[in-house]
Amino acid sequence: VANEFALISRYFKRAPRRARLGVGDDCALLDVPTGQSLAISTDMLVAGQHFFPGTDPYRLGRKSLAVNLSDLAACAALPRHALLSLALPEANEAWLAAFSEGFWSLADAWDVELIGGDTTRGPLTISVTIMGEVDARHALRRDAARDGDVLWLSGCTGEAALGLACLQDSHPGSEMSGALSAVLTDEQRRQCLKRLEDPTPRVLLGQNLRGVANSAIDISDGLLADLGHVLQASGLRADIELSQLPCAPALKQVNDQALQRRCLLSGGDDYELLFTASLSMTGRIQDIADALQLPLTRIGTLHKAVGDQIGLIRLHEADGSLFHPQHHGFDHFAVASDQGGERE
Ligand code: ADP
Ligand code: MG
Repeated sequence: VANEFALISRYFKRAPRRARLGVGDDCALLDVPTGQSLAISTDMLVAGQHFFPGTDPYRLGRKSLAVNLSDLAACAALPRHALLSLALPEANEAWLAAFSEGFWSLADAWDVELIGGDTTRGPLTISVTIMGEVDARHALRRDAARDGDVLWLSGCTGEAALGLACLQDSHPGSEMSGALSAVLTDEQRRQCLKRLEDPTPRVLLGQNLRGVANSAIDISDGLLADLGHVLQASGLRADIELSQLPCAPALKQVNDQALQRRCLLSGGDDYELLFTASLSMTGRIQDIADALQLPLTRIGTLHKAVGDQIGLIRLHEADGSLFHPQHHGFDHFAVASDQGGERE
């Protein structure tokens, strides 16, 4: 069995092109171009918490970088460098080979250099820190949404949550058990699992929104929960038209209305961008959608708010009535009464 340093150099050491010093020393050395800020974010995937033990390591390698790229996308930053920290239960070379292949496939696609990390024995945990570059004046922030902004969503939400429901469905006795019966085709099921296990970070969209959007966030914990962060940070409230929410074919097929709404609104793991822009930017946003061949949909409007109206989200049905969801989004430390609590 190879030792720690042999494993690192076999699977994770590559000569850097941009960094002055990469994997192999105590520190990596980076230069940030004049006028640019370093955008840094970190995200951790824990076995049993974020993925089922036994998940395809190639896909895990991709997802561990994808969720971090998604954070850079939400800030409109250009991806540059990454650090990778691994806790591994054992030195399983087949696992490492597949994991690193997945990691590199996405790193190469976005020209991200791996410049260091840490490797230790422990319960399977993957932590990536990503670094990118952005002119601070163009960085998209959560606290810069404005009264009257249109709320936009890339792609659609809910497929990843449906993929998770499919996986849970196959575990007898689960909460979801039986709910999905056999409504999905094999192709739809595969698509939902791909959205869950191999999400596509909207990096190009984020960069195209520089100077166009006022604020943005990526959806990792569910549409309502992440919109809530923007509203709280910006001191606003929102109206959403439920009939405008894009719905993937697989989700349309789910006859359990409550499950469908829950996937759309609070599913999580979507990695779409939710952004706000003034009405005058509508044409430019439609041009971006055409150029990127990515649907961008107007789903609501933001309004000024005071006191306990800050963060309020009103969900309008087509008939004008209001929908009151039971779940807002995923929270690792929520107590049971919070997760089921009503908001209004
Ligand atoms: P130190 O003991 O000085 O902290 P380590 O022994 O942890 O260094 O790591 C040796 C080198 O290998 C360092 O440059 C570190 O950044 C790099 N490294 C360790 N683990 C990984 C990994 N999983 N991916 C990429 N680089 C790694
Ligand atoms: Mg170390």
